[in-house]
Amino acid sequence: MYREYKEMVEQTVKEWSCDMEGCGLTVTRNSGCCGTATIMVCDFCGKHCCGKHRTVYYENEWTDDYPKFTACDECSPQADVAYEIAKIVAGRYDSFRDVALEIYNNMEDYEMYIDEIEPSPVLEMLWETDRYDCPLTGFATHNGDLCWFEIDDWDEYDTEYNLYKLTYGQAQTEQSRHAMFQELVGYHCDHVPSVYKNYKKTGREEEFYQARKSWEREDYKENEYLGKFRWDQFKYYKLPRHYDAGDDAES
Ligand SMILES: [Zn+2]
Ligand SMILES: [Zn+2]
Repeated sequence: MYREYKEMVEQTVKEWSCDMEGCGLTVTRNSGCCGTATIMVCDFCGKHCCGKHRTVYYENEWTDDYPKFTACDECSPQADVAYEIAKIVAGRYDSFRDVALEIYNNMEDYEMYIDEIEPSPVLEMLWETDRYDCPLTGFATHNGDLCWFEIDDWDEYDTEYNLYKLTYGQAQTEQSRHAMFQELVGYHCDHVPSVYKNYKKTGREEEFYQARKSWEREDYKENEYLGKFRWDQFKYYKLPRHYDAGDDAES
């Protein structure tokens, strides 16, 4: 439906301009990738908006390749609220976009949900220390704080992790141990794409495993518990090599 509409518009409109006040960006070719284009149509008011004057909304910003809907700068304050409420009320099989549009247009019916909106924590999976098909244990950040994660429920679609916050001293220790691992063994357990490197023998692995013998196996279950989170709430859930291979087996 959207595609037909887009093609129809592209055949008749030769120029695309951002309708937002004071912008005036005009293009004669309107291309883009992953469901975005230089100029997009606001799903709420139909105005055209450029990348600087819009918000695109993903149902899950770390795992969705295509945004579900777009709001121009004029509509985005209310669209932000509709988006957050849609996350609460949309069932897994509803169209997230339809639910959000319905909420946007009937905001008074959904006011009772406004108090329930909680900002979700920013979770980044930094490196793993054990794996069997998917990460089992390792380290992640929760709103910037270093945490230890351990798999809880292992399910093809709903893998969940328990998160435990590290103390300052524990974080220092784990970071220096990981730096040692990187130097002596490699960067293949790192999830952050700018850090990750493919596995290659260093010849110094034994030095690391000798050093590790004197360490206690990491276990922070007595630490402050931050909650249980689904795999798709983490940025960098997948090892970068899995992106290259187009491997979705972990999802
Ligand atoms: Zn709009
Ligand atoms: Zn603009």
